[in-house]
Amino acid sequence: MKSNLISIVVPVYNEEENIPELLRRVDAVVVPLGVTCEILFVDDASIDRTPHMLHEMAVADQRIKVLRFSRNFGHQSAVTAGIDYAQGDAVVLLDGDLQDPPELITAFVQKWREGYDVIYGIRKKRKEWWGKRLAYYLFYRLLRASAEGVEMPVDAGDFSLISRRALDVVKSLPERNRFVRGLRTWVGFRQVGIPYERHERYAGKPKYTFLRLLRLAYDGLFSFSSVPLHLITLLGVIVSAASFFAILVVLYFRLFTNLSIPGFASLATITLFLGGIQLLSLGVIGEYIGRIYEETKHRPDYVIEEKIGI
Ligand code: UDP
Ligand code: MG
Repeated sequence: MKSNLISIVVPVYNEEENIPELLRRVDAVVVPLGVTCEILFVDDASIDRTPHMLHEMAVADQRIKVLRFSRNFGHQSAVTAGIDYAQGDAVVLLDGDLQDPPELITAFVQKWREGYDVIYGIRKKRKEWWGKRLAYYLFYRLLRASAEGVEMPVDAGDFSLISRRALDVVKSLPERNRFVRGLRTWVGFRQVGIPYERHERYAGKPKYTFLRLLRLAYDGLFSFSSVPLHLITLLGVIVSAASFFAILVVLYFRLFTNLSIPGFASLATITLFLGGIQLLSLGVIGEYIGRIYEETKHRPDYVIEEKIGI
């Protein structure tokens, strides 16, 4: 039986109210499991008492390790740093706000011992307001429909356990704007989802702003799909064909009848419509170019200011 080291990676940004409870619940889960574990907190440059608390905890408890960023780099970068520094034979990605119940780790580890490489939580119920739930619902289905070459599971966040061999592949992928749950799916091996109920935050406010969530969604869609580009081409073909027929109709009226087609309004609408399509298309192309630009800069995903216990 495998009973090696398990790393629990926890990205935290101003989570002072959640950390003690998180540790308590993780402990309650890990001790009966009979595994050795390290708990790797990635502090995304918190400005509350989080760094202070983590420091004290790491001094008191050998299993606790801390990485601190030099500034706020965002959740996905924090998860990436955790993946880069985790030592475990299996790594659990766990949010610091207790929306992901640590109790599920027991089931994750069991599946891992059965030989699975990627075990992810599927969010069955969400306790967030309906607008956010709807947006998530649509996003995951759109992502699944458009992602090319990978079967993206719907409603699966970052909460997961990843085996060492799968993790090493994720680590080796050099891309920027990392959409970790997508990369994790991309690597393949044996994957399985476990449904769970997603709770509200234990305390504090969500740290993702609307714009950041939107950017995350863009990363997911544009990094795993070139369908938007194909759609532009298709749109171009359809509009060109339609306008070709329109020209034939106009010529027919002009040459073979006495009717003339009046129209300032129709002209204006068509012009606006085409202008809109062109701007939209440019925007989509711009998204891809922006990503190429990011890649060519080769900047690291994060900068570490301090390491404790590593
Ligand atoms: N987080 C982070 N850096 C950020 C924003 C969030 O490390 O810039 C952490 C946060 O502390 C939490 C996790 O990422 O542990 C998920 O963030 P949040 O709960 O705000 O996202 P949501 O659950 O609303 O998607
Ligand atoms: Mg949360």
